[in-house]
Amino acid sequence: MTVVALGLPTTASAAAAPPDTPSDGPLRDRFGRIVTDLRVSVTDRCNLRCTYCMPAEGLDWLPTDEVLSTDELIRVMTVAVRDLGIRSIRFTGGEPLLRRDLEHLIGAVAGLPERPEIAMTTNGLGLARRIDGLVAAGLSRVNVSLDTVDPQRFAEITRRDRLDDVLSGLAAARDSALRSVKVNAVLAGHEDLARLPDLLTFCLDHGYQLRIIEQMPLDADHRWNRSAMVTAEEILAVLRSHFTLLSDPRPRGSAPAATWLVDGYDVDGEPARVGVIASVTRPFCGDCDRARLTADGALRNCLFAESETDLRGILRGDLPEKDIDEAIARRWRGNVWTKAAGHGVNDPDFHQPTRPMSAIGG
Ligand code: SAM
Ligand code: SF4
Repeated sequence: MTVVALGLPTTASAAAAPPDTPSDGPLRDRFGRIVTDLRVSVTDRCNLRCTYCMPAEGLDWLPTDEVLSTDELIRVMTVAVRDLGIRSIRFTGGEPLLRRDLEHLIGAVAGLPERPEIAMTTNGLGLARRIDGLVAAGLSRVNVSLDTVDPQRFAEITRRDRLDDVLSGLAAARDSALRSVKVNAVLAGHEDLARLPDLLTFCLDHGYQLRIIEQMPLDADHRWNRSAMVTAEEILAVLRSHFTLLSDPRPRGSAPAATWLVDGYDVDGEPARVGVIASVTRPFCGDCDRARLTADGALRNCLFAESETDLRGILRGDLPEKDIDEAIARRWRGNVWTKAAGHGVNDPDFHQPTRPMSAIGG
């Protein structure tokens, strides 16, 4: 079988943090932004092959011994919460449910004295079986990715005939004790605009909050092109032609989604909302509060970062045990300190990062 090499950055750096890096306190950058939200990719593997994310043949997965172990992940997340001011952790992948220790990871984070909010982004396959254990461990929010409720189109986009599994995962999440169930949708092409009203109707009928994300240049095939991307403006025009959208009085804060109330609908007694994440056409980098950890232990201070900072070397190196946490914190402060002002996707000299979305986690 042909596999596409993951092409991981060669720039994962073990270099010392820049000299002007703050030596204590939360994770801050030179522009005054403070990072409080951590995305943890627990595996680069996936059981779907969404066209805008993965090649049909899959990728050359990370060897198991390069992926952070349960204990290593717990150690890094503990430093993040205890020493670096992280207040929310979102587990992602690849597909996070492919990791058998996910309940254990969630339980460990939920047991920290300053318990962060714990969320997960998943494609929903196998969620129905595991949702109760995940919630019992401490999961409080879930986003399930679902781009269409048309079975044929679902199979074309994901290259797998698994729509029923995703729908049963979603239903199980709704019937669990979770506080919020969101649906993430990426429109793979302009032809999907015509199907969007059905997707929103489905979400409104079932009590899920829909978020539509502009497709970003993070596909492993490097096929993204601006003219094929469905823009937030096009998405909103279609939504407005089928629904009455009212401005949302709730402040947006650092949330990437701009949201609207959908007139005439409510979810659990609250007005129903729909959100659009205009990552490309209306970047929200000025309010970004995120850090990302890859499955092989690299820190990324932006989805589009061209370089990474290695933590695995510290975890597996020869530092005395008592110095490891401090070394992780120092390197992490340096990584965030050098975060760029913006993602640069709209700059003429933009380069797509080598690490694809499936190995970053979104
Ligand atoms: N496998 C899980 C899933 O699909 O939810 C988690 C990982 S996936 C990379 C996280 C999110 O990124 C999904 O909602 C997916 O739709 C989104 N995504 C993947 N490729 C994307 C791209 N090129 N542009 C925008 N969003 C993308
Ligand atoms: Fe897998 Fe998620 Fe990427 Fe789809 S978007 S291929 S489900 S990692």
